Amino acid sequence: MCDNGPRHGPLLLTGVRRFDAPPPPRVGTVKEACGVFAVYAPERAVSHLIFDGLYALQHRGQESAGMAVADGEHMMVVKDMGLVASVFDERKLSGLVGHLGIGHTRYSTHGHSDWMNAQPVYLSSPAIPGGFAMAHNGNLTNTEELAERAGMLPGFGMNDSGVVAELLLQHHLARPDEAIDLVPTLEAVMGWVEGAYSLVFCDAQHVYGLRDPHGFRPLCIGRFGPEEAPTGWVFASETPALDVVGATFVREVLPGELVIAGETGLTALQLLPPATERLCIFEFVYFARPDSILHGREIHGTRRRMGELLAEQAPVEADLVMGVPDSGVPAAEGYARASGIPYGQGLVKNRYIGRTFIAPDQAARANGVRRKLNPLKENIAGKRLIVVDDSIVRGTTTKALVAMLREAGAAEVHLRISSPPFRWPCYYGIDTPNRDELLAANATIDEITAFLGADSVAYIDIANLRVAVGKADEGLCDACLTGVYPVPVKLAGAHASAAAVPGETLQDLLPGVR
Ligand code: SF4
Repeated sequence: MCDNGPRHGPLLLTGVRRFDAPPPPRVGTVKEACGVFAVYAPERAVSHLIFDGLYALQHRGQESAGMAVADGEHMMVVKDMGLVASVFDERKLSGLVGHLGIGHTRYSTHGHSDWMNAQPVYLSSPAIPGGFAMAHNGNLTNTEELAERAGMLPGFGMNDSGVVAELLLQHHLARPDEAIDLVPTLEAVMGWVEGAYSLVFCDAQHVYGLRDPHGFRPLCIGRFGPEEAPTGWVFASETPALDVVGATFVREVLPGELVIAGETGLTALQLLPPATERLCIFEFVYFARPDSILHGREIHGTRRRMGELLAEQAPVEADLVMGVPDSGVPAAEGYARASGIPYGQGLVKNRYIGRTFIAPDQAARANGVRRKLNPLKENIAGKRLIVVDDSIVRGTTTKALVAMLREAGAAEVHLRISSPPFRWPCYYGIDTPNRDELLAANATIDEITAFLGADSVAYIDIANLRVAVGKADEGLCDACLTGVYPVPVKLAGAHASAAAVPGETLQDLLPGVR
């Protein structure tokens, strides 16, 4: 693996462990895929800032966390499996000395959930004094092709981020005259890369932020100090990570744009020709924090609007509207406001639950739901409930939830979902099951209602969701809802030769997948 070879060894690595078993199966939900954070702040010890930034982005990935910090000459890297607060303590943070650096929280989408795939990826070479580190949010769609270009053998066992880092290093080493200036290397290599990426990099003197030409994943810029005399710069997946370190939001990184922070200030250049923007619609529905601001709108208000539109679109008589914590709650508030039905709390979430173990059967999965959520019996007994949630993927957890509410005495359970039916896998950085495991890909609404044991089920229309998000026409990816993939998907393995063409659905090309 690239981050452990002799020429790639960082100055400090901790927690060297291997988990050779495959990652546990994911049950019932869509998983976020990574948070990235970078800071350039002369005269400040950035490791604590990166820690705070990653802590604010913990919801985007809980499998591993890491940071690379540089002081102008040397770079140090610490990464390990686990939550930010378990990977870093005061001793480790105080050992990470420097005024610039990057950080990462990971959920695996490509590559196993193990230490070798934790980020940042670190590379060292005589051509890049002090080394180079990279952290990635997103998923590439031509990793095999890139690996071949990098001269890797099939089954190379490296994740997509590692392959890009390897290509960057190879390209840079081949052009020693371009030493230190990474921009020509980035321009050449990123031109070969397809798919979704919001990347942060650093060398010993600069931090970099780059978004793919479609802008699938968010990345924003923050500033320390006043506008006329900035004292530092921050790049982050979401705006709350700027807030927590005291940075002021400046703007989002544009699709295809490279932004560099260094001694001379902030430089922005259009590294790659921008394409039609395709920010992931699920950032608004589920992934982003409610206090995040995306495209100028606070996510909490956007979700409340989804609930209002859902109430107009799919009314039902009931006594109480309740949300499934956490991301279903704002939409439930909106539904209650628009319908006039009282809003109340019906479920308590255990805030301290970590990663759950492998649930071997349906009974164990139902227990997993109980471990996370418990009904407020006095609030729901004898009531006709409208239960608002953000999505249904496999349906396993929703089914267990409905059963739990009925056991607690609910007279009726009407499910209202603030995203349209999830029918297609995501290839752009979200960990979703195969199509044959997606409930809505394989069943009618009546079959879904019967399977879940609900009295009724309704999903928000895609048109209403776009209205709530404030982008009625372009600007969003909704491939998992529509099957229209904005970037060709080159599937590995059995479907290696198949490629979805923009505008066509995978089903047209891969009728057997279903
Ligand atoms: Fe987001 Fe779905 Fe597009 Fe993936 S396919 S980027 S989850 S909208």
